[in-house]
Amino acid sequence: MLSFNPDEVRIPNNHFIGGIAVEGGEAIDVMRPSDAVLYASVPNASHDLVDQAVENAWRAFKESGWANRSPRDRAKAMKRWANLIEQDVTTLAQLESVGSTRPISATVNWDIPFCAEGIRFYAEYADKCGGDVIPTQDDHLGMTITEPFGVVGAIAPWNFPLVMASWKVAPAIAAGNAVVLKPSEMTPFSVVRLAELAVEAGIPPGIFNVIQGDGLVGDTLARHPLISKVTFTGSTRTGALVMTACAQSGTKPVTLELGGKSPQLVFNDIKDIDKVARRISGAITTNSGQVCVAGSRLLVQAGVAEQLIERISSVFEEQVAQSTWENNATLSPIISLKEADRIDTVVRKTVEEGASLFTGGCMVGGTDSSAFYKPTILTNVNMEMDAVRNEIFGPVLCVETFETDEEALQLASHPSYGLSAGVHTADLNRAMRMVKSLDAGTVWVNRYGRSWDFAIPTGGFKSSGIGKDLGRQAYEANRRTKSVLIDFSE
Ligand code: NAD
Repeated sequence: MLSFNPDEVRIPNNHFIGGIAVEGGEAIDVMRPSDAVLYASVPNASHDLVDQAVENAWRAFKESGWANRSPRDRAKAMKRWANLIEQDVTTLAQLESVGSTRPISATVNWDIPFCAEGIRFYAEYADKCGGDVIPTQDDHLGMTITEPFGVVGAIAPWNFPLVMASWKVAPAIAAGNAVVLKPSEMTPFSVVRLAELAVEAGIPPGIFNVIQGDGLVGDTLARHPLISKVTFTGSTRTGALVMTACAQSGTKPVTLELGGKSPQLVFNDIKDIDKVARRISGAITTNSGQVCVAGSRLLVQAGVAEQLIERISSVFEEQVAQSTWENNATLSPIISLKEADRIDTVVRKTVEEGASLFTGGCMVGGTDSSAFYKPTILTNVNMEMDAVRNEIFGPVLCVETFETDEEALQLASHPSYGLSAGVHTADLNRAMRMVKSLDAGTVWVNRYGRSWDFAIPTGGFKSSGIGKDLGRQAYEANRRTKSVLIDFSE
């Protein structure tokens, strides 16, 4: 039985600095998306408190011995952390579900295990990535050695609070850095528990700190002189601000995982139309489309278009809209009533502009106390329309049809985004041509969405980001390379 009472969940509404809970800051109300109840408040950190968190992290980096510890020992502590997360699954999953858009069955079976396994993956990297010996003159030794940056500033979004945070924090800590994480002010609590568990696992206090607050707190963190690197996940607009802050405060290296408007290309030769319909549906209904890699543009070859759209629309009907703390919930609420209203406005405007509403286009059950939006299909659309060009971050699928491969590629090309794409075809040659031609940081063929292969990096092209989360790349991005040349001729 996974269902729980949302009023019985203990909320750690504090910062976490130097291994202890710290209070302080003006209260920001936090709302439960499932029923629009203001269920807690989070303190908005002052400038001084950000200072305190970063200075604490810097001291821990310098004095705790974490960075200098043998990589194998760092790995052991991180694996203990992963084990504790798994043992704490009930608490963490409820804390994650209660105030986010993630149904309890998803947090128990996916978010928490995925977060723990990601930490284990980076623990294993600690002693597997080093520098190089470089060919040089016979009486010289040339090499590169790598070292942690110091304190990494991490800023996370609200859509998968624990998983997104773990993608930032785990490689940074495994690489020997200290971290100050600022979660989204809309989903701030579960990462505090994550940080408590890190200390319980033997990661020195001060190596993983959480500072709560709004965008200004994020900006202050990114600009802090003791922050040596910034890693950010969020919207493209905020990503540009973070990049500016990094440029203006010491040309800091920055990793940006940003928005997308990802196409799914379906060709007439697909073997199993029901399977593909489920896949396309999952790619836009998971977390109600509030996913950076949501497959929000369906590009389908004319021969299968009609049949496929019908089937996707019937798979949509299977979604169960219930509060995230209910066992059977599968459809996620929209993060707020305001966001649901914004999604609805975009859909209505697109219809006014000439699009056809195939299904959806309204709230579930017409209730005004929760924000479940019906999975929606818009046809007769084009790239000039807001709904096709811009990230909606809701369960809205825009469908266009094509005849030839060239036309499919033309439609797939987006003027600014390049996060991910899906190709569904039984023709391997065509799949490979598409993989080569699509302007996207990830291309999935005959599947859509991430696997449990943490070794596969993720990150966007163009305005969808800079650098990668996951994979060896994310570990390496958390260490800097020092070049050494030793003259032993004398
Ligand atoms: P957001 O950009 O509004 O906020 C992200 C974080 O940045 C929050 O913690 C916020 O408080 C903070 N922030 C806001 N203004 C800031 C500033 N000026 N300086 C520093 N920090 C600031 O994004 P969101 O609404 O929380 O998340 C949704 C967005 O994230 C979508 O665009 C989605 O595509 C993107 N996203 C991308 C990925 C990826 O891997 N590419 C993954 C998840 C989400």
